Amino acid sequence: MANVNLEVKMECGLPASVRYTWPGKDEAFACPVHANVIQHVARALGMHLQMIPLAPLDRVAHTCENVLSGEEVEARNGDG
Ligand SMILES: [Zn+2]
Repeated sequence: MANVNLEVKMECGLPASVRYTWPGKDEAFACPVHANVIQHVARALGMHLQMIPLAPLDRVAHTCENVLSGEEVEARNGDG
């Protein structure tokens, strides 16, 4: 069995569905899955993070820039 290399950083790359601005950072884009994750993180920090849904054309133009966790990379690789 090959070990999963947790050093590997792989961007999500799915079509973005929302845009948001994390305090002190530039505007970023997220797919529905990562939008959910980011909202949970923000809530855990007691922050209100506003997410703006993208218009259909913008969804095509932007992809999710979030880095996948090791488990997510493994799941994608296993998906063929
Ligand atoms: Zn994503």
